[in-house]
Amino acid sequence: MENLQSKSVLNAQTPCQYSMVYGGKIRKFIAILLGIFLSLKLVEAKAPSQSADIYKFNTGVLSKVLSFESDQTPLMLVEGAIDTLKSQATAVATVNAVDLEKDVFLSKNQGLLSLLAENMIVREDAIIVVRILSKYLDVNTLAVGERFRLVFDGRSRFQSIRVSLGFAERLEVKRDDQGFFAVKYKNSTTLQSHYVEGEIAGSFYNTGLRLGLSHAALAKLNEILSYEIDFQREILSGDQFTVFYNTVRDDIDGSEIFHSIKFAELALANSIVTLYRYQDEKSGSVDYYHPDGKSSRSFLMKTPLENARLSSYYGRRKHPVLGYTRMHNGLDFGAPLGTPILAAGDGIVERASYFGSFGNYIRIGHRSGIQTVYAHLKGYAKGIKSGVTVEQGQVIGFLGATGRVQGRHLHYEVHKNGKAIDPLGLDLPASNNLTGKALEVFYKHIDHVNNDLSVYR
Ligand SMILES: [Zn+2]
Repeated sequence: MENLQSKSVLNAQTPCQYSMVYGGKIRKFIAILLGIFLSLKLVEAKAPSQSADIYKFNTGVLSKVLSFESDQTPLMLVEGAIDTLKSQATAVATVNAVDLEKDVFLSKNQGLLSLLAENMIVREDAIIVVRILSKYLDVNTLAVGERFRLVFDGRSRFQSIRVSLGFAERLEVKRDDQGFFAVKYKNSTTLQSHYVEGEIAGSFYNTGLRLGLSHAALAKLNEILSYEIDFQREILSGDQFTVFYNTVRDDIDGSEIFHSIKFAELALANSIVTLYRYQDEKSGSVDYYHPDGKSSRSFLMKTPLENARLSSYYGRRKHPVLGYTRMHNGLDFGAPLGTPILAAGDGIVERASYFGSFGNYIRIGHRSGIQTVYAHLKGYAKGIKSGVTVEQGQVIGFLGATGRVQGRHLHYEVHKNGKAIDPLGLDLPASNNLTGKALEVFYKHIDHVNNDLSVYR
């Protein structure tokens, strides 16, 4: 295999002597993975053994005793989750009559201790509170304007401080007979459906933003659609798209974060791409499928790097300077120096070393006699060497200008059974298509989604 492949690559002669065009629009997609929490309900306020208020949660109470050198009083840490602010307030009210709640905000160049002092909290209380808070958040890098809620009792004695720890999660440090302790709350959340349809005007990304899609939603859309279409070439102004997606809403403050895309449809000039999100019942794995159960995650990605511009196509080409005709065995992509190069599919690295006019070179062997080649790299990603297994989308190297080149670019080839083929003409079987029982379950699932969609369409 090694010999066969090397031969076919060498037959390609020099990789790319054609002029490269770089630049163009840069689209930044930030992939964000989101963890979703479902909150659980506060069951009851229970009479404690010693301290004033301990809550029992139906998640089970995790409690730890922490001691601080400056204050030998043990501090009780209780972590759990409650349903709503209201139930929390009720529980607190059974212990302390709360007279004043006050929101305060961190000013520029102000420390937390100074903010607490400004609000009449005695220094020894403030020091303990900040020490406890610092176990959960970096108190030295709080943002200007960070909000804290302070609670005082009827005698103006400081009782507690609350701060947001992130989406739908809050921390409260509160006083009891023995000192201060921390309680973490998870707000209850609700999955919200959103429907967006529109016509692309300019770029897909900017159209999406104008229609209210978040960056996170657009990054996901880009990811799932990138297996289907070439964003540079195939999407045009006037194309129609539909997205049906979920966000998670914090029931307390109304804030929302992106959760998942349930359905996406893109109607191009000559074709329609329709994808449904589907979670396999057995494995739990989530993927996107066409209405017939074919996986959208094709065998090879169409573009093995992001923000790239196709600058030279596969085929016989006349050299722009030297005038002779030569075969260009792959595609050239222009992008900034150092742009990560991704493995186009799952496979095994067959070669990752300097290779004559190709410069720094990687070849990956995939299933079904397919190989992909990446040339002129600036360097290799950590751990990439002959014999290692790589996954589709994994960073394998970085765009460069090594070997015989006129400028930086990625030279990319696809070979089938040892022969270079046009990567854009690939029609390879998709992986993980649904069959049998799974397909039946999937059909029921899409009926359900279509039913939900019919409310909007
Ligand atoms: Zn080339």
